[in-house]
Amino acid sequence: MEAEIIAVGTELLLGDILNTNAQFLARQLADLGVSVRYQHVVGDNAARLEDLVRTAKARSELLVFSGGLGPTADDLTKETVARRYHDALRFDQEEMDKITAFFAKSGRTTPANNEKQAMVPVRGKKLPNRNGTAPGVWFEDEGRYAVLLPGPPHELIPLWNEQALPLLQPLCQGTLHSLTLKVTGPGESHLEETVGHLFRSANPTAAIYAKTGECHIRITAKAATAAEAEAMCRAKAQQFYHILGECVYGENEDTLESVTVAALRRARLTLTTAESCTGGLVARRITDVPGASEVFGFGFVTYANQAKEQLLGVPGEVLAAHGAVSPQTAAWMAAGARRAAGADLALALTGLAGPGGGTPEKPVGLVYLAAAFRDRLYIRKLGLGGRGRETVRLRASQTALDLARRLTLGLPLPDDTQIVAADRLAEEMR
Ligand code: AMP
Ligand code: MG
Repeated sequence: MEAEIIAVGTELLLGDILNTNAQFLARQLADLGVSVRYQHVVGDNAARLEDLVRTAKARSELLVFSGGLGPTADDLTKETVARRYHDALRFDQEEMDKITAFFAKSGRTTPANNEKQAMVPVRGKKLPNRNGTAPGVWFEDEGRYAVLLPGPPHELIPLWNEQALPLLQPLCQGTLHSLTLKVTGPGESHLEETVGHLFRSANPTAAIYAKTGECHIRITAKAATAAEAEAMCRAKAQQFYHILGECVYGENEDTLESVTVAALRRARLTLTTAESCTGGLVARRITDVPGASEVFGFGFVTYANQAKEQLLGVPGEVLAAHGAVSPQTAAWMAAGARRAAGADLALALTGLAGPGGGTPEKPVGLVYLAAAFRDRLYIRKLGLGGRGRETVRLRASQTALDLARRLTLGLPLPDDTQIVAADRLAEEMR
């Protein structure tokens, strides 16, 4: 089945509100196996809406509308669409009673214009709305269907789930299922080399989306049943896992911080952070995860050299000899933070986020990452430059979280990781 989504509302055209209903509906329709051909936004204007409905209805079996079911004069979706689906509206006493009761509950009398919302299709169906006064509507005209839903998302979503889905499911053959693999470590071009051949298939399809510091691989299968489509996605995912291994850090809703916190919790380990160039971003991402307090008590934002000395015990001689952006400083920061916080694992970051301050030896984007864990220090030199301050910080935090994940889970570390015995810090990192 082919569908179009039509969001009605001048406030959408003006950019006053974001069209989140279209996103929700597009995903829902994809899950039903319905191909969405177009998404439209149209203002509260009967002539333009009618024009659009005429065109869309001629080429697509299903039109899904959001908005314009309100009581005011500019809410005209129902009237306009009814005409194009050769239906008419009638007054419905039952809906009117519900509207009256809805207002009475909050001690108000029903405004006269709300009678408009009690108008329902003569041939089509009304879709009762538990969360508001405007019922949804279903129109049918010689194998063409229209679903009209109220604009407020807290009304639209339950109405879709409870009323529209049961009507649509029997009309749809096959379902789509999607699975997203989250990958960190290899960049997009490297992925193209190693798993590029896996993207060239029709069902399931696989597509890559480059994000900052990670890539998402979205696998989508179409099959007769949900279980079948799911199994097809899983089989395809196995092919990616086989090649990418632990570079796939999670799936679907997982974030690098959520899987890192989960790994720490399972291992009963605690984490602390010592951040310079990232200014607390790693700590923020960790504490974005509900339940992070089990693994994270506090971290340090040590921007100035003095703070690195006072709070983390980085020796003044190390800072003087090598500078704040150096493997030595990173190592001392990690060791000092772990001691000061009494944590099992400490992550330290020091680098040049830019845009200014770079030199030929220490260019913008040069970041040193260190971790103190068990009896070892792990140090990495990262080149993250050329993409702006925010990107340098984000990528640095990404690399730090990934190091924590790998250490916690006992996974292989990147080849360039320098490893130093913790009890030799003073000799090796002078
Ligand atoms: P309406 O049903 O057009 O009167 O819309 C009522 C309210 O629903 C608007 O003021 C918005 O807050 C919300 N709304 C309408 N359309 C959308 C949409 N496409 N996405 C998200 N929210 C919406
Ligand atoms: Mg409106």
